[in-house]
Amino acid sequence: NRAIENYLDKTPGSKDFFSQAKEVMPGGVTANIKSFDPYPVIMKKGNGAYLYDLDGNEYIDYLLSYGALMHGHGHPEINKAIHNQIEEEGTSLFGTPHLLEVEMGKKIQELYPSMELLRYTNSGTEATLLANRMAYAYTGKNKIAKFEGHYHGGYDQVLLSVNPPIDEAGLPHKPNAVIESSGVDSYHQEHTIILPFNDLDATAEILSKRRDEIAAVVLEPIQGGFIPAEQSFMAGLRKVTEELDILLIFDEVKTGFRLGLGGAQSLYKIKPDITALGKVVGGGFPVGMIGGKKEVMMVSSPKASSDVFDSSQSLKSSAKEVLFHSGTYNGHPSILAAGLATIHHLEKEINHVFAITNQLKEGINKLFAKRGVAMQSIGLGSIFNVVITEQDKILNYRQLQQSNFRIRKEIDFRLLCEGIYTKPLNRYSLSTVHGKKEINRTLDAYDRVLTQVF
Ligand code: PLP
Repeated sequence: NRAIENYLDKTPGSKDFFSQAKEVMPGGVTANIKSFDPYPVIMKKGNGAYLYDLDGNEYIDYLLSYGALMHGHGHPEINKAIHNQIEEEGTSLFGTPHLLEVEMGKKIQELYPSMELLRYTNSGTEATLLANRMAYAYTGKNKIAKFEGHYHGGYDQVLLSVNPPIDEAGLPHKPNAVIESSGVDSYHQEHTIILPFNDLDATAEILSKRRDEIAAVVLEPIQGGFIPAEQSFMAGLRKVTEELDILLIFDEVKTGFRLGLGGAQSLYKIKPDITALGKVVGGGFPVGMIGGKKEVMMVSSPKASSDVFDSSQSLKSSAKEVLFHSGTYNGHPSILAAGLATIHHLEKEINHVFAITNQLKEGINKLFAKRGVAMQSIGLGSIFNVVITEQDKILNYRQLQQSNFRIRKEIDFRLLCEGIYTKPLNRYSLSTVHGKKEINRTLDAYDRVLTQVF
């Protein structure tokens, strides 16, 4: 295929380096998502909206570290915040509550009023894991329900039916969870219940049958960051979960700050019981947070003892009987400084990034329309995806799987050769430093590529 040949011609340095990487890491990568055939581009430098690979090729970056970089690479305000923080305190953690934990917490409470109390973690994975455990602890039940096609991180309880084969009958007729990774015990197939996204009747039916077992429903309010829940589905899901005493967990690791300062919940005007955040709020560093209703979050609070020298307490557990949550790096000050600077800058620039994203979406739509090719640019805020399909609407994983990935992949490889970067088949994320110049350059490249493909 010509697209791959061009890619090979343009990236010999990446190819060479990747063979070294394979001598060090299984498959040459340290996160499976970073791998693609024939080999991934190896980037060497990032600056603003641009990336530069080992062969010196320049790319406009629409991957943005899987959405984490809201202000592109090396933004001066974030750099300054990190440097100031390190000047003041070094990289050290004091092992005590920190001023920045409270400053960040207050900012989050202001922007996400449903997060009445919060805790910090080191990744989105840890955040949703803690949210699930909290739901178990609070409700006394031992199962969670998640939606087919939704990703919540890399642990056993949720590595189910994220990317399952669709040759079987759809949900709810086959509600069995499909294991996504070797090493995940079949125990989890019994304890994680799979739901059909954007299908309220089927979801409500499954939930009401198993209400005594299901502690929480966890979902990406916008699947994969680009397939929105319908408003009526979301409102219905909130109502049903409340009626059935099931907690509702919004995984806003991807949507938080990218769909609005207050995330998807501010758009839908729905209050989840627990929210998980990550990515953008770490300013490019590893981060996670969960927050929610006071009475739910309080299950993690160490119990106060009436006597600080109580001899009956074991040394280990002043916090006996409460939900375990710990972590050496939770609330790392350097990360919180970067995260706060990220939020402050976004408060000034969010309208710009939304406007520029819309321009790109509309421009791409027009280029396909000009050629009479059916497709949709799906998404809200600063993320979207280009789905080549004749279907009217994409509402869930199964419908997405029926779109034309083959052509989309060819387009993506050709775009790579034109200096437009996202991992093939990945969604597009934009940043506040993407501007008119980058959009025009991207649309020109798109136009050339579509002429080659169609
Ligand atoms: N939840 C969602 C919706 C995500 O998109 C991701 C990461 O892509 C995660 C959770 C996991 O976050 P992390 O990669 O920080 O562990």
